Amino acid sequence: MPSASSLVVVIGTGGTIAGTSARPGAHLGYQAGALAAQALVDAVPALAGRPLQTHSLAQLDSCDMDHATWLALAQAVTAQLARPEVAGVVVTHGTDTLEETATFLHRTVAASKPVVLTAAMRPATAPSPDGPQNLLDAVTMAATPGARGVLLAFGGAVYAGAEARKVHGYRVDAFSGGDAGALALWQDGRLRLLREWPAVDGGAAAALAVPVAEWPLVDIVTSHAGARGAALQALVAAGARGIVIAGTGNGSVHRELLAAARAAQAQGVQVWRASRCVDGGVVDSGSPDALVNAGDATPAQARVRLMLALATGA
Ligand code: ASP
Repeated sequence: MPSASSLVVVIGTGGTIAGTSARPGAHLGYQAGALAAQALVDAVPALAGRPLQTHSLAQLDSCDMDHATWLALAQAVTAQLARPEVAGVVVTHGTDTLEETATFLHRTVAASKPVVLTAAMRPATAPSPDGPQNLLDAVTMAATPGARGVLLAFGGAVYAGAEARKVHGYRVDAFSGGDAGALALWQDGRLRLLREWPAVDGGAAAALAVPVAEWPLVDIVTSHAGARGAALQALVAAGARGIVIAGTGNGSVHRELLAAARAAQAQGVQVWRASRCVDGGVVDSGSPDALVNAGDATPAQARVRLMLALATGA
């Protein structure tokens, strides 16, 4: 058995990092999530001999991520962190919804040990895949003494998981840490910490005891030129108990949509506003009648936060 707190558990959920293509040289048109977690580890010679265990939880394209998988993942991560011999957990994931899963884990798991998500923009069969280096960085990060919190190891940087957001659909440096920037950098195999590890959260862990079918429905509506209140009204009619508006600029909302939002609030629906801008969030205007401000969260992250808030009151 590995020595105390040296073991890293790699949990696979799919994504491009586990993607394969029959077409030599392909960066696109591959099958995401084709490989199990052990195959990803086996493809990294530098991981040979490290104390590792692997577990394939799912083999999804993360655009198809669902709440049942989130529940199973948070429960699996929590169970692994409770093992004294485990130093940390790595979660391999698709890039598309990674910021949502990171936010979910941040809110539901008290990660006093590191929980490091990682991913890739190129499939495992690409001539020069980015997944192996990202996985090596993530495993090293998960075994780093003193590290904690939900993190993202990607493209030579480490981000606080709840701050990370995907900002490009194709480039290899596809993630940003928002206004906060990266938390740390990998430099020649050494970690350069730029600021403190993120605060351990887990304040919405009670959601893990709620059946997924009972998680409150929360949807996102985008504000844009010519926006219609009917979109928001239809979601409320379909059972939404929370709505996040992806507002323009600093969270501004088209007057038609705002009128529908006010009517929904009067029916007890919670409405938050975020920004559809790629980076940055919503800076509080101080206006007492403004919709609840999602702060730095992207609309997708805000949806997770609002759903958990409604599920737990936390
Ligand atoms: N569609 C893929 C996924 O999120 C994209 C990726 O992993 O880069 O699973």
